[in-house]
Amino acid sequence: MPLLQPCRMVRHITDLPPSFFEENGYRAVILDVDNTLTTHGNPVPAEGVAEWVEAVKRTGVQVAILSNNTRKRVEPFAKKLGLDFVSMAGKPLSFGVTRACKRYGLYPGQVALIGDQIFTDILSGNVKGVCTILVEPYELEKGWFFRLKRRLERPVIRRFRKRKGEKQ
Ligand SMILES: [Mg+2]
Repeated sequence: MPLLQPCRMVRHITDLPPSFFEENGYRAVILDVDNTLTTHGNPVPAEGVAEWVEAVKRTGVQVAILSNNTRKRVEPFAKKLGLDFVSMAGKPLSFGVTRACKRYGLYPGQVALIGDQIFTDILSGNVKGVCTILVEPYELEKGWFFRLKRRLERPVIRRFRKRKGEKQ
C-alpha cells in the first residue's frame, strides 16, 4: 500500500456503517477532529457524529481521538463525545498511533484511523500499518498552507479513485 493512499474513502464518517469496524475485525477506531468530526475549530460535533460514535461503541469497538490540535481544543470536544484523546499528536509522525495501539493492547492491523488530510492523518496511519480512511473535509480551510496541501492532495485522490475504479 503506497504511503499516501488511504484504504478507503467516504464523504463523512457518518457514511460508514457503525458496524463496519466490528464486522471487519477492527477493535479500535482513532478519529481526527478538525474537518473530520466537525468544521475546523468548531466545539460542536457535526450532525449525526455523536450518535455515530455511540453506535460504534455499542458494537464493542474502542473509539478515541487523535488530533494535532492543542489540548485546549481537543479535551472539551472529546469530553462531549465521552472519548479518550491524544492532543498535539504530531501527525504525520506515528507516535500517537503507537500510543493508541498500546493503550488498547492492539496490533496496528486491529486499528482503523479516520481523518481528512492525506499528508497528516493518512500518512501517520499508513506508516504504522493501520487501516486508513479518508473523509472529505466539512469545510475547506482558508490559509495558504492549507490551500497548498489540499492542492497536493488532489492527484492522490484521483489516483485512489482510478485504482478503485479499475478493481471494480
Ligand atoms: Mg483534520
